[in-house]
Amino acid sequence: MLRLKDVYKTFDGQKALNDVSIQFPKNKTTVIVGPSGSGKSTLLRSLNLLEIPDSGEYDFNDLKIDFSKKISSKTVLNVRRHTSMVFQSFNLFPHLTVIKNVMEGPVQVLGKSKAEASQLAKQLLSKVGMEGKADAYPAQLSGGQAQRVAIARSLAMHPEYILLDEPTSALDPEIEMEVLRVLLDLAKEKQSLIIVTHNLTFAQRVANQIVFLEDGKIGFEGPTDEFFNSNEPRIKEFLAAMS
Ligand code: ATP
Ligand code: MG
Repeated sequence: MLRLKDVYKTFDGQKALNDVSIQFPKNKTTVIVGPSGSGKSTLLRSLNLLEIPDSGEYDFNDLKIDFSKKISSKTVLNVRRHTSMVFQSFNLFPHLTVIKNVMEGPVQVLGKSKAEASQLAKQLLSKVGMEGKADAYPAQLSGGQAQRVAIARSLAMHPEYILLDEPTSALDPEIEMEVLRVLLDLAKEKQSLIIVTHNLTFAQRVANQIVFLEDGKIGFEGPTDEFFNSNEPRIKEFLAAMS
């Protein structure tokens, strides 16, 4: 279980996260939605310690972090190992083939043999429908293909949570579905996912839990159906504006 408690983050005097307390259950998919500037990316980045909040607590299994104290680099590495971020702009290693991109983490960080890592990489590439491109270089891939390789690369590290910030916003709509399908499959297999997206149709299909952020505050946290059927005026207004 991943948990934040009483978390604040201020940028230039403006509260990006304003007293956020929230839990992300294991083996479930949480989707974070909310207007632009509401703090979604800041929240997601805080889960991976890419952003360090000013205060509040972070609980991850037995690990507890007090954000108002200094965080050791060992703790940061530990958290990043188990919460893997898939970036919007893919950031694959350009000089490595697709399969080498997926093998890199298991070999360099987890100390697996090349044979073992290669077998795992093939398996994961086939899972994301990219087995035919194992020997291609990132520059030879479409955006959707690159994003699927990035997801395979994350999976290869066996993280407890995969974090995705608008994973398809850089993609053409017809390619977007390729990536969403992979995420729907992972959610079905009970991989723990935390996804920020503006695509509410996808959110409704994939999420077990919705978090709605407004001005850095949690406006809703609960089951997907409850969110989409809410009578809360602010939620109805948000849903109407997005449809
Ligand atoms: P979007 O939907 O547009 O991606 P968001 O919900 O992800 O928005 P954040 O990026 O988390 O919003 O930003 C929340 C607030 O914090 C905004 O007011 C933003 O301007 C501010 N902010 C975020 N990162 C920084 C930063 N590095 N420096 C200064 N201000 C920042
Ligand atoms: Mg954002």
